[in-house]
Amino acid sequence: MLAYTYIERGRFALTEKPVPALKDPRDALVRVTLGSICTSDLHIKHGSVPRAVPGITVGHEMVGIVEQTGADVHAVKPGDRVAVNVETFCGECFFCRHGYVNNCTDPDGGWALGCRIDGGQAEYVRVPHADQGLTRIPDNVTDEQALFVGDILATGFWAARISEITPDDTVLIIGAGPTGICTLLCVMLRQPRRIIVCEKSEERAHFVRSHYPTVDVVRPEECKAFTERHSTHGGADVVIEVAGADDTFRLAWQCARPNAIVTIVALYDRPQLLPLPDMYGKNLTFKTGGVDGCDCAEILSLIAQGKIDTTPLITHRFPLRGIEEAYRIFENRLDGVIKVAVSTQTT
Ligand SMILES: [Zn+2]
Ligand SMILES: [Zn+2]
Repeated sequence: MLAYTYIERGRFALTEKPVPALKDPRDALVRVTLGSICTSDLHIKHGSVPRAVPGITVGHEMVGIVEQTGADVHAVKPGDRVAVNVETFCGECFFCRHGYVNNCTDPDGGWALGCRIDGGQAEYVRVPHADQGLTRIPDNVTDEQALFVGDILATGFWAARISEITPDDTVLIIGAGPTGICTLLCVMLRQPRRIIVCEKSEERAHFVRSHYPTVDVVRPEECKAFTERHSTHGGADVVIEVAGADDTFRLAWQCARPNAIVTIVALYDRPQLLPLPDMYGKNLTFKTGGVDGCDCAEILSLIAQGKIDTTPLITHRFPLRGIEEAYRIFENRLDGVIKVAVSTQTT
């Protein structure tokens, strides 16, 4: 089968590999129908994910059809159309039982697919702990509608869930990249009084304005003043930081009102300064990433009800054989790209 492979630092290539075999009774084999490219894939390519193993097939955003299941898989069966979760988790350890599946202590726990074990930019993928890692897609939900359920949409849903948003709140979301927009969609479900999105790219700001006209969009340099002016208590009640740029952590806590919740979804390249003397008396609560991706069934049900739609994020479509070009466009943010869909069916 064709598999997009991490060859060495700086280089991925489409290679021929055998179809994966089940290794454990809890495994399932999934025929990938549609996948995507995530910024984390680029981090692997650039060598900034040390635990990524050269030779592995990359890709951790995909949907497909169950081809084969191990004897201990009960939640799905061959023929089921499924969303694949970016996180592998056992469902039984202390962390899993408390919903903290990102910290699952299983050897395959956490982000393994497309990082430490073969992922889904390929025709087939082996999914460990399939009962936890696969979720059946409702019949009225298309592959494109379900494509982001297991990764960036799970992240947005989790961020909105842990941020304790109430109807009286002004919520500030910093960053309108793909994960920021997924976060926005999940925050909108909670119907806070006002949502402000801070984004420096004019193209992405325009995307938010045109698709979500009830949302205020501001540039970083006007964000603090705007947020103060348009919130009831001198700052945002909830800030969700999804940008991960050099100044956005500082912006996040500066825009928060006293006693606000500041949720950090972003993955930073560098350590960030927490200047406690400057924020003394502000009594902030910080919550940090990464995602506990255990809400996929609920998210799919919301998509089926028409309450979440991430399909506008798919700006480009490629066959698996054209994945090199898909990476070139996604990596260099060409042609207004937000997310690409990579289809294996037309190869
Ligand atoms: Zn990802
Ligand atoms: Zn676990």
